[in-house]
Amino acid sequence: MAAKDNLSAVLRKVNDIQMEQREIPQPTDTEVLLAVHSVGICGSDVHYWTHGAIGDFVVKMPMVLGHETSGTVVAVGSKVTSLKPGDRVAVEPGVPCRMCDYCKGARYNLCLEMKFHATPPYHGSLTRYFAHPADFCYKLPDHVSYEEGALLEPLSVGVHACRRAGVTIGHTVLICGAGPIGLVNLLTAKAMGASKVCITDIDASRLERAKQLGADWTVQVNTIVKETSAQFADRIIVAIGGHADVTIECSGAESSIQSAIYATKSGGMLVLVGLGSANVNIPIVNAAVREVDIRGIFRYANCYPLALSMVASGKVDVKPLITHRFTLEQTLEAFETARTGKDNAIKWVKYPLRNDG
Ligand code: NAD
Ligand code: ZN
Repeated sequence: MAAKDNLSAVLRKVNDIQMEQREIPQPTDTEVLLAVHSVGICGSDVHYWTHGAIGDFVVKMPMVLGHETSGTVVAVGSKVTSLKPGDRVAVEPGVPCRMCDYCKGARYNLCLEMKFHATPPYHGSLTRYFAHPADFCYKLPDHVSYEEGALLEPLSVGVHACRRAGVTIGHTVLICGAGPIGLVNLLTAKAMGASKVCITDIDASRLERAKQLGADWTVQVNTIVKETSAQFADRIIVAIGGHADVTIECSGAESSIQSAIYATKSGGMLVLVGLGSANVNIPIVNAAVREVDIRGIFRYANCYPLALSMVASGKVDVKPLITHRFTLEQTLEAFETARTGKDNAIKWVKYPLRNDG
C-alpha cells in the first residue's frame, strides 16, 4: 500500500547501499511529516558511501543518506501553526540544540549538539517519508520548484561563504574550484553584487559550465607543465588584471589554497570552504604581512531565507546545476554517476521521488 511504502536508501557500511523499507515516523508536537520530493546527492553522501567516514564522523550504524531535500507536508504536530498539509517546503537539514551559546548567538551551525541529516549517527532524507521540526522547513512559493527547493541546501553554503567573505557590490571575486560548491558561490557572489568573478579548476568542462553560469574569467590548472602555486596565482592575476578583492576556496587542494593567498589583494579576505587534507602547508607569512584575512566556514546559519529569496526573485537560477534525474529505486546508479562524474554530471543528482509536480 502506498501509504506504508517508506523505501529508503540506507548506507549499511562502506560501498554497501541497500534499499530498505523503514517505519513511517510519527511527527512530534512541533514536527511535520514530509513526503519527500527531491533530494540532491552531495559529495559528502558519496564520500560516506565510498569511505564510511568523513573526519571524525564515522558510519558505525546503518544510516539513511541524503540531506538536500524538498517535499510536501502530509501531517503536522499539534503545536505546528506555520505549516499545513499540502504545503511545499525546502528542508534545512541540521537541527541544533537551541540552548547553547552558539545557538543563542545565531551561530547554530557551530552547535556541538547539531543533528544533521546523513551525518552519522543521524539519518538523512533519501526516503519517502520523514519527520522534521516545522521551523526548519521553508514554504516554497508556487513558482519555485521542488528541485530548486532541494538546491537551497548547497546554495546556503554559498550564501554563508559569501557573507563571511563580505562580498559586496563592485567586488572582484576569485573562486577556486568549479564543483557544485564553487558554482553556488559563483551564483551567490554575482547576486550579491560582485562585478566580476574568476573561477579556477583542473577540469576544462567544469570551467566551461562555470562560464555558462556567468563566470567572467576561467583559469585552468596546468597539469602537464608543472607550475608553482605562485606562478598559477600570477596567471590568475593577469587574467583578472589585478588581485581579487576576496577569494573563496572551494577545492580544498593544498596548492589551490596557496594560490588563493597569493592572488588575494593586500587587506583582502580568503574564505576556506573546501575541506581537503587536515594539515596543509600555506604561505602564512605572505598572508600575514599583506593582511590577507583567512576565515573558515562550516555549513551555514540563517541562510535558507536569503537563499530562497534569491531563487524566488529570479536573482539566482540554480536549475542549470541539475544535470541528472533518477528515481529512488535507481539510487545506486545515481551514486555511481555522482561518484564518477560521468556524462559531465555535476555532483548532485536529483531524485524526483514522486510524480505530483
Ligand atoms: P567537487 O569535488 O565536486 O569540486 C571540487 C572541484 O575542485 C573539482 O571540480 C576539482 O576539479 C577542483 N580542483 C581540484 N584541485 C584543484 C586545484 N588545485 N585548483 C582548482 N580546482 C581544483 O566538490 P564540491 O561538492 O564542489 O565541494 C567542494 C569542497 O567544499 C569539498 O572539499 C567539500 O568537502 C567542501 N564543502 C565544505 C563545506 C563547508 O561547510 N565548509 C560545505 C560543503 C562542501
Ligand atoms: Zn546549540
